Amino acid sequence: MIALHNGSHRREESEPLKLEHELRVKLEELRHVEFQAALEAAVRSTPSEEVRPEPTLDDPVTRRHVHAIQDIDEALARIDAGHFGVCIECGESIGTRRLLDFPTTQRCATCQEMYDHAFRHAHPTH
Ligand SMILES: [Zn+2]
Repeated sequence: MIALHNGSHRREESEPLKLEHELRVKLEELRHVEFQAALEAAVRSTPSEEVRPEPTLDDPVTRRHVHAIQDIDEALARIDAGHFGVCIECGESIGTRRLLDFPTTQRCATCQEMYDHAFRHAHPTH
């Protein structure tokens, strides 16, 4: 009877939390990488005669990394708010596998495909 107390329903309950934690860890790692890359790009793009390297968003590489950081921050905010993993276009669940592959995605695979197709020239994403 004591063994039954740690039943399988407890494991099921912790599954979403496990995914949430995994995504959070991934996003924080990603953020660190992007942050370093943004800094490096900013320093690289700053004229060497500048005494104090002032990070500038004029540099397209820096800007891309900064945008990535913003995406990551938004994804983390969505986890905190508790509405993570829902497609912003159709409201369907994005799916665990896709979330783990693209933790910052806001769209399910179908909607992302349509979005990429519509904005391919203006805004290339993954
Ligand atoms: Zn969708």
